[in-house]
Parts: sequence; C-alpha cells; structure tokens
Amino acid sequence: MKILVLNSGSSSQKSCLYEIGDVIPKNSPEPIWQAKAEWNGDRAEVSIRTSRGDNLKNRITVGSREEAAGPMLDTLWSGITRVVSGPSEINVVGHRVVNGGQNYREPIVVNAEVRATITRMSAFAPLHNRAELEGMDIIAKRFGAIPQIAVFDTGFHSQLPESAYVYPGPYEWLARGIRRYGFHGINHQYCAERTAQLLGKDLRSLKIVSCHLGNGCSLAAIQDGHSVDTTMGFTPLEGLMMGTRSGSVDPGILTYMMREGLFTGEQLDELLNQKSGLLGISGISGDMRQIVALMKEGNSRAKLAFDIFVHRLRSCLGAMIAALGGIDALIFSAGIGENSAEVRAAACANFGYLNLMLDSEKNQSSPQDQDIAEKDSAVRVMVIRAQEDWAIAKKCWSLLSANVGSTGASARLETD
Ligand code: ADP
Repeated sequence: MKILVLNSGSSSQKSCLYEIGDVIPKNSPEPIWQAKAEWNGDRAEVSIRTSRGDNLKNRITVGSREEAAGPMLDTLWSGITRVVSGPSEINVVGHRVVNGGQNYREPIVVNAEVRATITRMSAFAPLHNRAELEGMDIIAKRFGAIPQIAVFDTGFHSQLPESAYVYPGPYEWLARGIRRYGFHGINHQYCAERTAQLLGKDLRSLKIVSCHLGNGCSLAAIQDGHSVDTTMGFTPLEGLMMGTRSGSVDPGILTYMMREGLFTGEQLDELLNQKSGLLGISGISGDMRQIVALMKEGNSRAKLAFDIFVHRLRSCLGAMIAALGGIDALIFSAGIGENSAEVRAAACANFGYLNLMLDSEKNQSSPQDQDIAEKDSAVRVMVIRAQEDWAIAKKCWSLLSANVGSTGASARLETD
C-alpha cells in the first residue's frame, strides 16, 4: 500500500510517501519520497528527497498553497525524484488535522460531513484547520476520488477525564465547545507505544509522562495507554513556555490590556503566539539552539529565557506525575527534547527525590530511541524521535486494511 502523508502548516506544506506491505515493520522505515515547501510572502523554497538519494531544491514564486504544493506533488511522478508512475499508483492520502473537536477520536475517511465538521472547528484553530482543508482540496484536484483520511492531533486526548477537560469557567462554556482538547496527540501516542516496545513492557502497565518539546511544547500524562492529562488546552497556547508562544499566563493580564485599550483581540493573539516565549524574553530568538549558545556567551536575557523554560517544564512535569500518582517512564521527543542534553538534564535534576537518575554520559551521547536513565533509576528516561508522518501512515494502513480485511484479505502487525 502506497500512503501519501500531508502535513499542512500555516506557511508550510510537508509531505512524504511510505510503502507498507502485508505487515507493519517494527521500526519506522525511511519514506520513499519526502518534500517540504516553506514560504514567506510570495517566495517559496521547495526541497525534495528520495530514499534513493536524489535531492532537488527549488525557489519558486507562489500566490497560494496550491502553487507551492502542486509542483511539489508533481515530482512524485516526474523528474529525477520520480518514485511512482502516476497519481493512480498511490492508494490513500493521510492528513494531520490539528483539531478534530469532540466529534472525532479515531482516524476517519474524509467525506462531506467530516469536511464540514473540520470547517466548523476552524473557528477554534483558524490557522491550522484552514491549511488542512486546503491540503485536502489540492489532493482532490490532483488525485480525484482517492480515499483521504484525517488523523487528529486531539484524538489521543479524547479520553481525558471530565475533571481534566472542563474549564472552571461558567458551565455553559462546555456546550459551546470551550474545553480542553490537548494537542500533539499523534506524537505522544507514538512515543508511548515506542517506549513500551523498547522496554519490552505492556503499554497499559506503564505510567508515562511524554514531553513533546519542539517549536510547540506540550506534556501528556499517559495511563492504561491513553492520555489522562495534558498541558495544552482549548488551543495549542496553554501550558509550557514555547519558542514564540507564551504558554499559560494570568488571563487577568489580557483583560487588563483590553480594558486599557492597549491591544485588540487580534493583536493579543499575535503577541501571545508569535512574539512571546523564548523569543519574547530573549528578544533575539525563539530557537533553543541559539538560546543555549547565547546563554553560554553570558547573555542574561537568554539565560532568563532558558531558566523560565526549565522552571515551567519542571512545574508541569510535577503536575503530570501527580495526575498519574507515579511515573515509570519519562519521554523526551521533538527538536528540543531529542537534541538538547541541557534541557533534559535540567528537567530531570529536581526529580532525584523520585529516584529518577539520568545517566549523564548517555544524555550527552546524542541518543535516539534509547533509555538514558542509570541502571538503578526507578524511572526510565527515554529519548524518542518524533515520527508523526510514520504514525499517520500506520493509522491509514490500519484503517484501510480493516476495511479490506472484512472482505477477506489479511493484514497484521509485526510482533516480537
Ligand atoms: P516543530 O515543532 O516545528 O516540528 P521541531 O520539533 O523541529 O519543531 O523543534 C524545533 C526546536 O528544536 C527549535 O527550538 C530548535 O532550536 C530545537 N532544536 C533543534 N536542534 C536542537 C539542538 N541541537 N539543541 C537544542 N535545540 C534544538
């Protein structure tokens, strides 16, 4: 089965192609083809890579997502990066959809009704859901009636207990869809499953805290194989400090600024999403690599940014561990989680009282899909490479195979 995965961001379009046979391999394979288009105004940079080693980079002028994504998708069947004979060779397209709301827990084949629901949810996540809908339209135009599957970043959090998802505002908020949804669910779930696999344990027997620390950052408390608490809420703005997002701040600050006429709602939105976090505090960069480098040069604002990031990470970690009533494994994933030994060491430093002991040598050794805790540590500490596209591809395979399965074909997961 050839599965195309689309990840549509507000100013980017990523995509990759996987092929899965009768059995899902235990370790994630490299995609056959992967592509990325990123634009700023009308200039887009497109880069494409194949598993054969072909590379293509291009700068093009664009006026819409389609003008960036269209030529990018054409390289699947033309030029040096050609990997299929034409669109008909691809069986299914999977989309990462940020917010599926209360309606969708599991991946679902997109039809008119699903599309209408995702459109309605756009009011909550305007940048994301609109980009994803455009991605679906581009596929429909180029691939015709190919099955398209939506995989939701909120899905893994759909079993949060009521006490974790209802905001303590007026109860009526809930009926309007104002509740905590949680995000990064595709990766939190993948990391939890991968951890159980690497530790040789049953996922349902583990209490796990997963730290997705990329440009966006969130934690998930995982018990019985599902999320029971998480730091992001109604939008991906709640919780931890992030690259350019503030994370949680006193809502009184916002009502004060609006009351004083200092900012409109739209300006506050921009302030909190694009001008806060590591960037807002350092005044220089929202990129953790740069923050750490500046801190080492003695820059005090970069040091403050790092210290706030760590302080909030520790507080939220404590909250997740409390929600679980214990912890068997702590996971670090995404750009910062996978690459910053400094952040991992600082985050773990205050949990020695739980007998959580990081092996500092392993922590420094660029670990990947590896346990970096000391042998005697009471808590395993895992570094897991974020593999959202692969996770989406597997879900598409499972959904389609289940449908095929009912007509007699066999499909199974590789087991130990
Ligand atoms: P996204 O959430 O957009 O997918 P990523 O998961 O790629 O982003 O994470 C981006 C973040 O990872 C940036 O803050 C970047 O600085 C950080 N990062 C990447 N490599 C390193 C590194 N070697 N050390 C510290 N931070 C890193």
